[in-house]
Order: sequence, then structure tokens, then C-alpha cells
Amino acid sequence: MQTSQVTAIADARIPFEACPLCGVADAEEIGVASCTSHPLYRAELPPTIRWIRCDGCGHVFADGYFSDAALAIVFGNAHALQLPGRETLHGRGVAAKIVEDVSHARGRWEGRWLEVGFGSGALLTTAAEFGYDVVGLDLREQSVVKMRELGFDARRADLLACDEDAGFDVVSMADVLEHMPYPKPALVHARKLLRPGGALFLSMPNMDAFAWQELERQKKNPYWGELEHFHNFGRSRLHALLRETGFEPCRYGISQRYHACMEIVAKPVL
Ligand SMILES: [Zn+2]
Repeated sequence: MQTSQVTAIADARIPFEACPLCGVADAEEIGVASCTSHPLYRAELPPTIRWIRCDGCGHVFADGYFSDAALAIVFGNAHALQLPGRETLHGRGVAAKIVEDVSHARGRWEGRWLEVGFGSGALLTTAAEFGYDVVGLDLREQSVVKMRELGFDARRADLLACDEDAGFDVVSMADVLEHMPYPKPALVHARKLLRPGGALFLSMPNMDAFAWQELERQKKNPYWGELEHFHNFGRSRLHALLRETGFEPCRYGISQRYHACMEIVAKPVL
């Protein structure tokens, strides 16, 4: 019988030299979390995440982001919720509320919608149902292939590779920004892609929420061990970041999908 020995890859995490939001180098470690029970964890990856708080702006981030070799392992797998083709009544309802919130904020119910990191595809397909002309980006090849088979304009690319300046009325990043090593250039780029009158949608966990603190008190906070997250935002730091990158937040809501998560709509400042 053959046995396979899996060894951890070297330099799986590239350390942040300074706060990825404000550039201040002084920071303190606030804890270490295990990620070995995460469904996408593989033995080639580091078993823990060290979390750091910036002394300058208070932002909380992981001690590094994944190298390309580590990302290839992470993206080589997906849990079922991250893949298209499992359309559910609940998923459609959650997506519909997002489309409604964004459309109310814009005062319009049509236009071109760029969905970054479309995952299950629920927001992409629901925005199309409402009448939007949709484009989806995702880094998981199998998700892109599936959405194309279903007849959607799906591309295997990240946000920064999209060069359609002023090409979209909506850019949505649902549970995406905390996966990006450097969120600030991503938001600056999203700002460039939006037309006047457009809107940005973001969702992610909210460290400032009472619900987050309750998860902490119960020692059940899943986000410290979230393998794919490099950041933990609070509402106040996210709002400040939006203002630094040319947006004004105009709507706050809570996620129907995940504990302690927030949903923000922001408009480009002209
Ligand atoms: Zn900072």
C-alpha cells in the first residue's frame, strides 16, 4: 500500500510589511487562530492565521496573504456554496434584496452590473432577472465554466484586470474585499469602472457589530479561522476607506446570509 506524505509549501504567506490600508508599520498581534477545520484547508497550507491590529488606523489584518502557489491550492477546491448550479429559494431571495437595495439607492433598475467574485452566481442571475445586463468575474475556473454553460458573460479574472472604464452602473463585491490583499487599489479601480449615477455594493463581516461581539463572548467567532480572509473590517474603518477612495456610503444593511455581516451601498463622489 502506498502512503502519500503531504508537506507544507514554503512561504505560503507573503507578510504585509505595513498596514495594507494606511501604510503605518507599527502594529500589534492580537491573536492566533487555527484554520485547520476550514473546509478548504489542506495540509500544504499554514495551519494558523496570526491577526494584527494597525497602530495607525486600527485596521485588523492577517500577518500575510497567500502566494500564488498557496492560492492555487485554495482555488483548486471549492465548497458547494461557492459554486453555481445550486439555485435555491433562499439564495434568490437574499440576492433580490441586494438588487432592490442597490436599485433604490440609484433610483434606477437597469444598466450594466459587474459582479466581482460571483461564487454561486445567485446575485448575477438575480440581477439579470431584474433586467440588468450582467458580467461576472471569478477566480475559480469551474465556476466560470459553469456560468458560461448557463449562458452568462463570465470571465476568469480579478477586478484589476477589468479595463472597461466608466463601463458599469453597478459594481458588486459580495464577501470579496476581505479576500483581497490590498483593498484600497481595488476600490479605486471599482470607482474608475463606474459611470456617473452608479453604485458600489459591498458585504463582509462587521467587527463593530454587537453580533460580532456576541460571537466573541460565546467563543464561537468563525471569522478568525476563515482561511480565505486577510482582513476584518469594522463599519467605521470601511466607511473611512470608502471616503478615501472616492465614495460616499449611502445605505447600511445587515446580511441575510452570514452572522455579523454588513451590506453597504456607496456612490461615487463626483
Ligand atoms: Zn493602518
